[in-house]
Amino acid sequence: MKEKGSEYVKIGEILAGKFTGKKVKIRGWVHRMRSSGGLVFVVIRDAAGVLQCAVKKDGVDEKGWKDATSVFVESAVECSGTVKEDKRAPGGFELGVDGFHAIFVGEAFPIAKDQSVEFLLDTRHLWLRSQKLTNVMKGRDYITRYLRQFFFEHDFFECTPPIITRSACEGGATLFEVDYFGEAAYLSQSGQMYGEVFSFSLENIFILAPSFRAEPSRTIRHLAEYWHLEPEMAFYSQKMNMELQEEMIEFVCHKMAKEHPEILEAVGRDPKDLLLVKGPFPRIDYSKAIEKLQAKGLKIEYGQDMGADEEAELTKDAKIPIFVHNHPKAFKAFYMREDPDKPDTVLSNDLLAPQGHGEIIGGSERIWELDELMQRVDEQKLDVKDYQWYIDLRKYGSVQHSGFGLGIERLVKWMLNLEHIRDAIPFPRTINRAYP
Ligand code: ATP
Ligand code: MN
Repeated sequence: MKEKGSEYVKIGEILAGKFTGKKVKIRGWVHRMRSSGGLVFVVIRDAAGVLQCAVKKDGVDEKGWKDATSVFVESAVECSGTVKEDKRAPGGFELGVDGFHAIFVGEAFPIAKDQSVEFLLDTRHLWLRSQKLTNVMKGRDYITRYLRQFFFEHDFFECTPPIITRSACEGGATLFEVDYFGEAAYLSQSGQMYGEVFSFSLENIFILAPSFRAEPSRTIRHLAEYWHLEPEMAFYSQKMNMELQEEMIEFVCHKMAKEHPEILEAVGRDPKDLLLVKGPFPRIDYSKAIEKLQAKGLKIEYGQDMGADEEAELTKDAKIPIFVHNHPKAFKAFYMREDPDKPDTVLSNDLLAPQGHGEIIGGSERIWELDELMQRVDEQKLDVKDYQWYIDLRKYGSVQHSGFGLGIERLVKWMLNLEHIRDAIPFPRTINRAYP
């Protein structure tokens, strides 16, 4: 199919075999090239793929030959020719070129093979053109789309919280402060509290927005700015909350494996791995998890939050995600409801991704009664003034409700089998980098 109003065809359509034997025009960027005497192979890429184009000196006019022999990697070009099948060419097709035009030759591209991680981050604006990141960004888009699709099919509304706020949702240590007309305000760490507001009007909602955390440590799974999916549901128990997480993860894994296996394969994730992801996921009580870790010789005490090492230990041999639930209330956020059946623990869960990836979701049932909330505000010595509006919600028609927060980049990192979270987002923001 040609683009509407365009004489050009997309490389993806050619690779799908739709133009074999036909004459076409394509345009894109030079992915690589090699020449031998009177023949130049220019591999051209567009958004959908790469196509080898064979330009013969006597197959094009003089200007065409001059253009084909003077372009650089990443020069913008267009060409015409006849599509033929060729098993030796990448993707199995080759274009026999009869017309070649350089749209923009530019300068020699600065990124070559074997460049350092820092250099590739400095030139991120250009490195995003690489096949690797192109595939990751497509994968990220599909994953986000499927998540939205899941919630729309379940009649959730998408809501938008403010980004500048006065209240710290996840504790003060990792707040980015902004000068708000002479007063201190903060970049949102989570839209959850606003999600709870919406859940008392629209009932089932989700937020997909950036969250900001001034994470002081360098890890392979923390960003200072990340995208946060936060569903919040009224009349919802923690049990229902965990079942929803399970269903959502299964849905997005299966969609991705069935509809875009080519992207998974290109980034080194076997689609079969994701087809294995099916609920119910194992559920392990936090205290049991601590015992298990201690038995394996890890130095963690009851009452400490798990870090990457502990989560990696719990999930390294797993094929599907694992729930860790019922955390001690002492180190959990003040709004998590205490479990009436297991005092001193809250109705909380983390969802840990397999193969050592670790936490991708944190969820809980929220305290919905005023007295209980005030007691926790007291215990945690929080300043009521910052939370008054949130406390108010418990004065008027408050009902049982639950929700969770999923880090989009954590999910992408696991599903696309990435080593580092920075590659799950186009422009990673970390402790020492806000450029480009
Ligand atoms: P962790 O213990 O892994 O630092 P957290 O418990 O502080 O995470 P939550 O406050 O529960 O995280 O946030 C919900 C979700 O947001 C997490 O499960 C994770 O997927 C994601 N997330 C949290 N912090 C970050 C971050 N700095 N960068 C990327 N994603 C994050
Ligand atoms: Mn968490």
